[in-house]
Amino acid sequence: MSAKVWLVGAGPGDPELLTLKAVRALGEADVVLIDDLVNSAVLQHCPGARVIAVGKRGGCRSTPQAFIHRLMLRYARQGRCVVRLKGGDPCIFGRGGEEAQWLREHGIEVELVNGITAGLAGATSCDISLTLRGVARGVTLLTAHTQDDSPLDWQALAQGGTTLVIYMGVAKLTEIGEQLRAAGMPDRTPVAMIENASLPEQRECRSVLGNMQQDALQFRLKSPAILVIGAVAATAGASAACLLQA
Ligand code: SAH
Repeated sequence: MSAKVWLVGAGPGDPELLTLKAVRALGEADVVLIDDLVNSAVLQHCPGARVIAVGKRGGCRSTPQAFIHRLMLRYARQGRCVVRLKGGDPCIFGRGGEEAQWLREHGIEVELVNGITAGLAGATSCDISLTLRGVARGVTLLTAHTQDDSPLDWQALAQGGTTLVIYMGVAKLTEIGEQLRAAGMPDRTPVAMIENASLPEQRECRSVLGNMQQDALQFRLKSPAILVIGAVAATAGASAACLLQA
């Protein structure tokens, strides 16, 4: 007998940003494997479940992915309903796709549940409209951190006309700044750096491309943080209207 594994996004931190579907999945769970950056306040929705922390902040320095796979498989094969709870959205830099594929290959039914990804929440929580009409035609979500050091097309990023939303970028600010400037993005391009988005301890630092590393240092920017780069990053509430008129 095997039950289902739900791969669920817990959203960016604010427990009110959890979806109703995530709440339902948690309510059905026998076992919850909880990741880094998940606000434990969401566990109020699964009072009877066994909760296992599998992220770095959960006590283990870094739980090997293979171990997490085996844990999900073991509980599912025992007929338990498993919820794998991840920060933000499970499929945005969250390994949701890999885990779903692996589980399906092992005969386990999987259901993915969206969460609000940190990049979108970070922008919204400081009044940045990522695709502000007339200013940005799109948005690009990217990470500055790769496993294989695969190259990014900085030219396309710098000149594509979309707002850049960068995950895992705090330790790579120098490289990001240098690459975008070398690829032709102007020094005065607005940047917003948003730490702990959607949580009470949220902080935001506004800067421009040419100064962002210096400003982040002075601000003592820490992970988790999102970088928003592009004209829309200069906006905040009413000032969006000024930008449109400019
Ligand atoms: N699946 C997650 C992303 C995981 S990668 C999602 O969809 O949001 C981890 C990175 O996400 C962090 O390094 C940081 O860049 C970003 N992040 C996650 N939570 C955040 C938060 N509350 N505030 C700012 N950035 C956050």
